[in-house]
Amino acid sequence: MYLLHSFLTRTGNTRPVRSRKGPVFAIIISVLLFSFCLSASAEILVGYGPHRGVFKTVDTDSPDFKRRPVSPNRVSPEFSGITWTITYLDIDNITGVGFDHSTKGADRRARLEDALEYVSSILNETGTLDVLVEESQTDGNGFLAAAGTYYWDTPSFQTGFAFEHIDTESDPHGDFEDINLTVDFGRTWNERTGAPSGSQFDLISVLVHEITHGLGISSLSDSSGNPPPTFEEKVYTTWDEELERDSGSQDLFANGIGGDPEFKGSSSDLISNDVVFKGADATTDFGSSPPAFAPDPFDSGSSLSHFDDDLTAVMTPSIPPGVTKRVYSSFEIAALRDVGWSNASLSSEVWVDFSKSAETGTGTSSVPFGRLSEAIANVAEGGTIKIKGNTEESTTNEMPTINKAMTIEAVDVGETIRIGVLSGKWSLTEWLRTLLKTFEGTGDEGYPESEGGF
Ligand SMILES: [Zn+2]
Repeated sequence: MYLLHSFLTRTGNTRPVRSRKGPVFAIIISVLLFSFCLSASAEILVGYGPHRGVFKTVDTDSPDFKRRPVSPNRVSPEFSGITWTITYLDIDNITGVGFDHSTKGADRRARLEDALEYVSSILNETGTLDVLVEESQTDGNGFLAAAGTYYWDTPSFQTGFAFEHIDTESDPHGDFEDINLTVDFGRTWNERTGAPSGSQFDLISVLVHEITHGLGISSLSDSSGNPPPTFEEKVYTTWDEELERDSGSQDLFANGIGGDPEFKGSSSDLISNDVVFKGADATTDFGSSPPAFAPDPFDSGSSLSHFDDDLTAVMTPSIPPGVTKRVYSSFEIAALRDVGWSNASLSSEVWVDFSKSAETGTGTSSVPFGRLSEAIANVAEGGTIKIKGNTEESTTNEMPTINKAMTIEAVDVGETIRIGVLSGKWSLTEWLRTLLKTFEGTGDEGYPESEGGF
């Protein structure tokens, strides 16, 4: 079992409120505050990393606290309305490994941008999100990658800084990134856009997963239902707020009498393999509330922060080598809406390039789908599929069914793009039809297609 890893960030529907004690942050990673409040209380941010199970606290009032200068190497690509400012500490600190590797670094940085381009195509938002890519690990042990966000140490359900930055159009804290990411390049990675070999973990797949933790699909509960000990207050995520024990429909986390979030279940609920995400949109899309990952024993850093591992989803707790999970299942996009990203939807524009392999695309122009059926499944109702021309004929033998309104465009085409079974290859049906005409001369009358005949 290879664990993905993520940092948690915070919640969604409610905006962080300055605590009674003064500004306090809770995050997965670490937090600081600037002193706009002269209260004697420390300003504390807490960070948490799913898969890592690590919580950090930062007291911004501490004399040891040092502000991080803006990186001179920061890059700021923009995708679908979101500008991502990315700082690579490998590069700033000239580590020579990871994203700073002399021959592999460029591909690795391009794959992160591929992941961010896909996520942007789903969120349908405008604004800025800051990503800090920590110095890479190279030990090849533990998590593949980890990411998360920050939370205010204020009693509430929160989606995290990434959501808040977009939602409020204001940076929650200038000294803290919205998403913190670490990758272990001691593993064997597929660092290209094509399919991984059987021994390679797929970097794009893992990065989409980690960034999604940073968007707020993450739990702050430990095995006893408590938030991280670095939080002074009862802080949980908007994702936590939608978790319930399936049998009996018992909320695991809900506001108590005093209005603050409380753990309403028992520790046995958290290892029951019977926890579901009850978000309204996800439940509608999935047909029932999709199961969350709640194994026995409690898997710190993975339990409750993922969908169950037997679902077809990006946000399962692990990914084997040789497998791609680069695009969300529709119920995961619905879950993003449920935790606060109300505009999340299938992309209104997806790309296809028939020279690419199946299951390697994200549908963006940079990483197009290889099959028309994939594009049809992943384009929004009324959206546009753009087929890249001058590549190759479809040799996929796919016979896609168009089941919703869409526009299909051919782009940069010199010749006709053929879709479906290639001419010159007869199917069994065609062969039988010809045979009948030869011997009976009646054509196919009396054999309606709807009955599965010719
Ligand atoms: Zn994860």
